[in-house]
Amino acid sequence: MCGIVGFTGNRQAAPILLDGLSKLEYRGYDSAGLAVRDGDAMAQVVKAKGRLSNLVEKTDNGNALKGTCGIGHTRWATHGVPNEINSHPHNSQNGKISVVHNGIIENYLELKKRLLAKGYIFQSETDTEVVTLLLDYYFDGDLLKTLSKVMSRIEGSYALGIINKDNPDEIIAVKKDSPLIVGLSEEGNYIASDIPAVLKHTRKIY
Ligand code: GLU
Repeated sequence: MCGIVGFTGNRQAAPILLDGLSKLEYRGYDSAGLAVRDGDAMAQVVKAKGRLSNLVEKTDNGNALKGTCGIGHTRWATHGVPNEINSHPHNSQNGKISVVHNGIIENYLELKKRLLAKGYIFQSETDTEVVTLLLDYYFDGDLLKTLSKVMSRIEGSYALGIINKDNPDEIIAVKKDSPLIVGLSEEGNYIASDIPAVLKHTRKIY
């Protein structure tokens, strides 16, 4: 298992993401990471191997990452050793799209071979990175449409949280056979792998 948290709204995202991830620690993990966007700047990504407290320390409790839209992840490695490079979020080649993933992409090897043949370079050993690079490959300006195209190519189980430079303040999320909830509040909207991650902010949960 692992944990996903996302927030977009009118508060600083990083402290909310770290707090939400701490509520998902029970699910088990080996590393953690955040991607946070400030306005139309590229997302800043910070990752740390081991305990979530390492990420908390590295980001000064989230204060070092400015921005009101972001995604966070605690990883339980299935493909690739637990290290910083394999930790999520994973970025597209142009750095515009950041992805967190819970689950397993069963046909990742076949997709990876095809992407390599098209000249894509993989940074990590994860199955997740095929999703990120496929989003990059198919992106036509409409991330939701692009994602549904990618979903028709990938097999397996997944909950995905995605942010993109060209979709300011938006988080795109999708789930298939992995848990994901959406929380709505006056201050902003959330995604999470489980309810405790957002319970202190909202009871309006889908
Ligand atoms: N399969 C992905 C990986 O190994 C995601 C694992 C998870 O659910 O944390 O990075």
